[in-house]
Amino acid sequence: MPSSPVKRFDYRALPSRVLFGAGRRHDTPDEVRQLNCVRPLIVSTPEQSELAGNIAALFNPPSAQRFCEAAMHTPWDVTSRALAVVQEAHADCLIAVGGGSAIGLAKAIALRTGLPQIAIPTTYAGSEVTPIIGETRDGEKHTRRTLDVLPEVVIYDVELTLTLPVRLSATSGLNAIAHAVEALYSVDANPVTSIMAEEGIAALAAALPAILDDPSGLDARSRAQYGAWLCGTCLGSVGMALHHKVCHVLGGTFDLPHADTHAVMLAHVVAYQAIAAPHALQRVARALQADEAWRGLHALTSRLGVPQSLAAIGMPRDGIARAAELVLEQTYANPRTPDRESVKAMLERAWCGARPQTDLS
Ligand code: NAD
Repeated sequence: MPSSPVKRFDYRALPSRVLFGAGRRHDTPDEVRQLNCVRPLIVSTPEQSELAGNIAALFNPPSAQRFCEAAMHTPWDVTSRALAVVQEAHADCLIAVGGGSAIGLAKAIALRTGLPQIAIPTTYAGSEVTPIIGETRDGEKHTRRTLDVLPEVVIYDVELTLTLPVRLSATSGLNAIAHAVEALYSVDANPVTSIMAEEGIAALAAALPAILDDPSGLDARSRAQYGAWLCGTCLGSVGMALHHKVCHVLGGTFDLPHADTHAVMLAHVVAYQAIAAPHALQRVARALQADEAWRGLHALTSRLGVPQSLAAIGMPRDGIARAAELVLEQTYANPRTPDRESVKAMLERAWCGARPQTDLS
């Protein structure tokens, strides 16, 4: 039974076909055929060009071209080079293989060409199931929501996550948990996404420590991928709040690594929200099997050995006041109304790696 009252809500399911399971990458050529396509362009980061080659090799006769220059935050110069390749190759669909960077590039191409997409995610960031695109042009990152960028097909093949380094597995998993936490207290929260959020957090919280102990264990890796799918679906369905705003500002202004920033900030923001979202955070605590949500998250990040401070991931101390100001500009709907001093105090604590605190004022 839901622990919070069921109130008026809107719910919209997003159209996407999801294939899940070990070895499912071998279904890729069939999925291309089902889209009535014959000339796919495979996109990846340079680090995953070999994997892109392996996916290309599944096509017989060989029909897939590759573009392996995807980069974090979807820079426009990369997208424009990729668009030229799409044209030259007469590509009629896109296959993104990799994390949020590869998937972001395919979305950027789809936005300009209308080509259908198959996403084969290899991290836990969740972009493959969202209608969200963030692009960087002239040094500024702009994010928008449009169904035009939602991949038509998502293939979760756990075997492709076995190479994800332990540290990135942990931070990427915490990035996913952050989507579900904010979905639970979102202004658009609804019973369906809340069920997915709680299940997603529980799956990842169980899987991430097990991955740390045995990175090649298929069961824990599958559980993490299942959790990432649920958490990503939450991100795609409802609006995010203060935590995502803070991470957006820190990543965009100080070029901090995306998943690390989420990992450092999550317990701090959840402690900040504690008085304003008790029912939602009770569900987070239940999923984490903790007495309080922020304590459960703090314990999880400590257990996973991820960075514990903004200082450790490259944030300059003299940037804190500026960051607090930017967080309050066009702030997202949030259970607790943020003010400059309390946000600054939270960032100060996160900067030096102090314990999260609930009564910041
Ligand atoms: P990423 O895609 O940049 O991947 C990080 C690094 O890990 C890359 O070098 C990549 O090649 C490598 N990698 C990925 N999977 C691997 C694997 N299985 N084995 C070995 N190496 C692997 O990182 P990310 O955190 O997945 O994505 C971050 C980007 O995604 C950011 O630009 C972020 O803004 C975006 N994002 C978008 C959404 C959305 O809904 N639009 C959601 C989450 C993240």
